Amino acid sequence: MSNFSASLDLGSIVCKHCHEMIGTFDAEKVIIYYSDCQEHTCLKERQVGQGEQMLEE
Ligand SMILES: [Zn+2]
Repeated sequence: MSNFSASLDLGSIVCKHCHEMIGTFDAEKVIIYYSDCQEHTCLKERQVGQGEQMLEE
């Protein structure tokens, strides 16, 4: 029962912080690429998670 379509986008781009799917890309096998999304809620959680780290701009 293998009914794989070659046109499937097996590559996934996932936010490494909130694990939200950012996008997909064409790949020959399953690849998960971790990146950063630009969601404000996610950006905020990142700062909360790094409470001990000094952030200066
Ligand atoms: Zn995110």
